[in-house]
Amino acid sequence: MKQILKEKNIFKCILCDSENINIKDEKLLCLSCNQSFEILNDKIVFSKSYFNTDKWVNKSERFQTLDYGQYLMNKIYGPKIKDMPNLYGNGGICINLGSGENNFDEYINIDLGNYKNVDIICDLEKLPFKDESISLIVCNSVFEHLKNPNKVKQEVLRVLKPNGYFYLCIPFMCIRHHEIDYRRWTSYGIQEFLKTDFEIKESGPCRSPAQGLISYVNAFLDLTIKNKIIKKILSILWKYLSAPLYLLKVENSEHSQSLAQTIYVVCQKK
Ligand SMILES: [Zn+2]
Repeated sequence: MKQILKEKNIFKCILCDSENINIKDEKLLCLSCNQSFEILNDKIVFSKSYFNTDKWVNKSERFQTLDYGQYLMNKIYGPKIKDMPNLYGNGGICINLGSGENNFDEYINIDLGNYKNVDIICDLEKLPFKDESISLIVCNSVFEHLKNPNKVKQEVLRVLKPNGYFYLCIPFMCIRHHEIDYRRWTSYGIQEFLKTDFEIKESGPCRSPAQGLISYVNAFLDLTIKNKIIKKILSILWKYLSAPLYLLKVENSEHSQSLAQTIYVVCQKK
């Protein structure tokens, strides 16, 4: 378990909202309602309904695409998640909400899934933290998978310190990529979603329009061409034909955000 979780008393009971919490003997115990939460393999388990899979894609049996991801370039624009604690963390606690298989030492990694590097397994609609205890929350390609994005936003608001930062990366011109993939936002839509509670500090393409186009055509060939030989030939052709598109300059403009595969927003709690 990360040292910061033992040192700093940031927990709040998800059942009774008490802040009277003790960590002892591989258990986290609420001294008010007596509920205990297990610590298994260094992970504090607040939800039993987790995905017990090694990899996020293993969960998706209905959506077994594709060859398309194997050689696509995944270049990220805007601030990098590993740099954000220095930029926006203000020396406080940083959490990676819906961390999946990512591993960032600077963050407390939180997910409903029982992945290797997760520190806390919990429902994102009910975070086990005190009000106004967190300095920075990053959320990378998670909101499209949420049943209730509004509820999760309310939890983000509750646990963030005043003036705390929230980084979101969300897909826009991105193919459906999982059986638990529910929605898309435009740049205007995500700003509308955030603006009542947050001041938008920065936004732009996170993955470029070219990356969206390239992966779309790949997926299209994979899903619509039945003949395996023709599919292979077209895929290889597209691989070389599309390669120069990666070299196109990606500007932080409205045009880019109208076409980008994913969009990022950095905002600050009002
Ligand atoms: Zn309790």
